[in-house]
Amino acid sequence: MSAIRIDLYSDTATKPTNEMREFMCSCEVGDEQRYEDPSANELQGMVAEMLGKEMAIFLPSGTMCNHIAYLVHCKPGDMVLMEKTAHPLISEAGGACALAGVTIYPVDGQKGQFSAEQVAELMSYPFSLRRPGVRVVSVEQTANSPGGCIWPLEQMRAVCEVTHEKGAIAHMDGARLLNAVVATGISPQDYAETFDSVWIDLSKGLGAPVGGVLAGSEAFIQQAWGWKHRLGGAMRQSGILAAAGIYALKHNVDRLAEDHINAKRFAKGIYSAEGIAVDPDSVETNMVRFDVADTGLSSSAFVERLIGEEGVRVSTPGPTALRAVPHLGITEDDIYSAVESIHGLVERIVEGV
Ligand SMILES: *Cc1c(COP(=O)(O)O)cnc(C)c1O
Repeated sequence: MSAIRIDLYSDTATKPTNEMREFMCSCEVGDEQRYEDPSANELQGMVAEMLGKEMAIFLPSGTMCNHIAYLVHCKPGDMVLMEKTAHPLISEAGGACALAGVTIYPVDGQKGQFSAEQVAELMSYPFSLRRPGVRVVSVEQTANSPGGCIWPLEQMRAVCEVTHEKGAIAHMDGARLLNAVVATGISPQDYAETFDSVWIDLSKGLGAPVGGVLAGSEAFIQQAWGWKHRLGGAMRQSGILAAAGIYALKHNVDRLAEDHINAKRFAKGIYSAEGIAVDPDSVETNMVRFDVADTGLSSSAFVERLIGEEGVRVSTPGPTALRAVPHLGITEDDIYSAVESIHGLVERIVEGV
């Protein structure tokens, strides 16, 4: 197999830049568990302020942010509503169930979104001792699996409103919230305002090597610290990692717009390739979903050739579906080169070679 030249597998492929590494080396550290790590404290303060919440907690991963939110908000047996393609349902190893003991109800939405009416209906059942109570409604901004789709602010607010009316808790999996912020110009505070808990991922397009930061009320974050310890996620001189997050929030947020432009560029570039189905208008942020059914190949067979013959990697979210995600390690030239590679490959497929 040839080496991977251009890695569009995911925005998790980002590697810390030299500037980020230097910043990490220069930061001050202390014992996080004694609240004595100045860099971890600074990052937590920055995120709490950015999201308009009382406090925040630095965690080793976004997955742990979701787990801890359910652990604090729910009792075993409670139900969490989320869209059927949401990350905790398909990519978190069943942790919501295994750790928090919650049932996830997959809401049948579109583009990873559902409506306030759907929530109202799902929560309108008369009280019964048999039926698990919905404790949390979770919204994923942007919706990852459908292709980085942006929840409209009004729709989110309406969902939070019914959630609260019914006495439940609104949680935002904001792994890529900042992609939505950059794409729409709506502030992180505005998006987060009606949510009880919300987190952002540092290790996706923001380019840090590890971490997520979960925010909410002071009482919520104090309980989150308890679970961070219990789960073995409490660290010591974590400031060296938090520093990467501080650097990312200072330098890598606005540049997400470049990833969005590159995603559009990629979609437009492959649009005319034979056998490729893609809708450039559906690209809202940094992800491009496309389909190779008409080439006669499965997505995995297509990617095997794309890597082997062209050194370009994309992911395979479905039997014939592919996904490309530009990020800070990808230049405009890389995009043109990847587009050329795809054209070249489908030409050979059509010719039968
Ligand atoms: C990546 C991701 C997560 C998990 O974050 P990790 O930092 O990889 O654990 C959760 N939700 C969504 C929507 C994601 O894209």
